[in-house]
Amino acid sequence: MLEIRVVTERPNLVFIMSDDHAAHAISAYGSRINETPNLDRIATEGARLDAAFCTNSICAPSRAAILTGTYNHVNGVTTLDTPLDNSLWTFPAELGASGWQTAMIGKWHLGHGAGADPVGFDHWRVLPGQGHYHNPVMLERDGRVVERGGYVTDLITDDCIEWIDQRDPERPFALFCHHKAPHRTWEPSRDHFTMYEDETIPFPDTFRDDLAGRAEVVQAVKMRMMDLDPIIDLGAVVPEGLTADEEIDWRYQRYIKRYLRCVASIDDNVGRLLDYLDRSGLAENTIVVYTSDQGFFLGDHGWFDKRLMYEESLQMPLLVRYPPAVAPGSVIDDIVVNVDFAATLLDLCGVETLADLQGRSFAPLLRGDQIVDWPTSMYYRYWMHRDGSHLCPAHYGVRTRSHKLICYYNDPLDQPGARGPADPVEWELFDLVADPLEVTNVWGDEAYGEVQAELLAELARLQDHVGDAPFVR
Ligand code: CA
Repeated sequence: MLEIRVVTERPNLVFIMSDDHAAHAISAYGSRINETPNLDRIATEGARLDAAFCTNSICAPSRAAILTGTYNHVNGVTTLDTPLDNSLWTFPAELGASGWQTAMIGKWHLGHGAGADPVGFDHWRVLPGQGHYHNPVMLERDGRVVERGGYVTDLITDDCIEWIDQRDPERPFALFCHHKAPHRTWEPSRDHFTMYEDETIPFPDTFRDDLAGRAEVVQAVKMRMMDLDPIIDLGAVVPEGLTADEEIDWRYQRYIKRYLRCVASIDDNVGRLLDYLDRSGLAENTIVVYTSDQGFFLGDHGWFDKRLMYEESLQMPLLVRYPPAVAPGSVIDDIVVNVDFAATLLDLCGVETLADLQGRSFAPLLRGDQIVDWPTSMYYRYWMHRDGSHLCPAHYGVRTRSHKLICYYNDPLDQPGARGPADPVEWELFDLVADPLEVTNVWGDEAYGEVQAELLAELARLQDHVGDAPFVR
């Protein structure tokens, strides 16, 4: 089939994605716990998006949504266990077909081998599965294995710079720099091993949230400080003689310091890449994106990990620098989702596609324009039902600019033997204006009767709009 593409501008793209980096651990987003001067540079010199959300807060599904521009029930990657069918359309492949040189370096996490290896890239070098923090093995096309000593975030950045360096300067390039950090088990580099050692990191406001009034299945999730493995996750033996509260505090400090040390390496290496773009004269005509596949609980509500539709997990950091189109210091609070990324980046690159995308381009918002019919709500669905270690329930919901409605459907038949609540369906409703920390579930509260009815209708509308269907027992 003859495809006609209209290419008006040909910028480069450097798409940097980390794994599990929450926006509230970036100083540009007002972090209370760390400083990220290099990530902040992207925000200062470009745009910060304050309402960028993932449509399923878990690694592989979010990556699939980003690459394909579709929701997980359409691209098939609903859980961690489903590889991405590499015959599906992806926006990097579209860029490649339109003349861009393309590379994927770092964490792929969408399967390997026949039918699942990365495709649509001129070059790829990826970590197998989760990969290792230290001395990681990486895989290339045709089964080639690359072994080197070093720290994963440094090595991925080295590879990215080397690849840009050897490219054909006559053609644009699109580089996907996908970091492993700061994913569990949070192993820092030697450079940051003792960072924060003598400090006490502030505790989040909801650290001692007792989860009263929240869904029974939410109260039961195993994502609390006490669910971390001291040796594997925290790298230490629990000191003797601590009270229960003291042990939880000790665990948080161990956990958050390890996490933030990994983030510090990310920040350093993003700085290295930005400096390289400056030195090589590429900064002006290169779109730089920094994001993460989802957010993360940093002790919020007493939790670590992600999965739930609560704000800290739902929000993706999203910073975009592109001097010709994005004004420095732009702040955008319209709701955008990971499914929109593909359409947006193709739009910024001036590439038209015939692909059947579910996402829409928010490039006009980046350019400072309004989009009159831009959505004011988003649809979310987490499909994994009470996986073995986290016991996080499957759920779907809707978030508007002011409220959030979540439906947990907990069919005990999904997992024989699992303890299910008396009612297989539980609801949560949050007033994000009055209760931004989401500690008061107002589902069933008469004062919210009208809002609740509107949100139920909006959830049904969105679910139908994206082609998904409600849970039926
Ligand atoms: Ca992740």
